[in-house]
Amino acid sequence: MTKSENSMSYVITPAIIPCLQVRGSSNYYPVNRIFCVGRNYAKHVVEMGYDPEREAPFFFQKSSDSILVEGTDFVYPDKTIEVHHEVELVVALKTGGKNLSRAEATSNIYGYAVGLDMTRRDLQAELKSMGRPWEISKSFDGSAPCSAIIQSDDIGHPTKGEISLKKNGSLCQEGYLQQMIWKVPEIIAYLSEFCTLMPGDLIFTGTPSGVGPVQRGDNLKCTIDGVGTLDVGVV
Ligand code: MN
Repeated sequence: MTKSENSMSYVITPAIIPCLQVRGSSNYYPVNRIFCVGRNYAKHVVEMGYDPEREAPFFFQKSSDSILVEGTDFVYPDKTIEVHHEVELVVALKTGGKNLSRAEATSNIYGYAVGLDMTRRDLQAELKSMGRPWEISKSFDGSAPCSAIIQSDDIGHPTKGEISLKKNGSLCQEGYLQQMIWKVPEIIAYLSEFCTLMPGDLIFTGTPSGVGPVQRGDNLKCTIDGVGTLDVGVV
């Protein structure tokens, strides 16, 4: 079968491509895949019960329709009584490629955003203990709240500055981008050894320490110096 433009019809209605707003633009950023890095701040590694030695980064994915755009409430999900917040710097790619060098990785970045890797922690722990994939604890409706994207043309490439999360006004998570065990260009370059990166891919780059549970009625205010803020209500 050949795919000729305008003539292709589908047997069902295709799903809508999830999109993020872009600051200073009326155009949207289409989200392709969402990669997440695990254990990338030493104090968080320790709080999760692991050794903060610099091991190779590891990755998991959330479905792209896990995106929750800013201004939308996070609906407390089913099948859990322990949903945790994880504030993270999000990197948005514009080109892609395979086996990228660190320099190529940096020039591949379209922009940055403030994101939350929402996690059904109880389910994750149960799946981990059974040696099963814990994807379903990470990838679910609304599990990836994300701010609008700020273009690197406007802010450059943030490598230091505070990353924090306040729950109902009190500081829960606090760290600094310079504490990332694996830096952004290293993460992109390493990931591109495993799969061909594509335009629209997002990378959630790990969370600092202080993760904890959310409840209905909570307000989460996430801030990354030089990038922006993300406000999410839990309902
Ligand atoms: Mn995370």
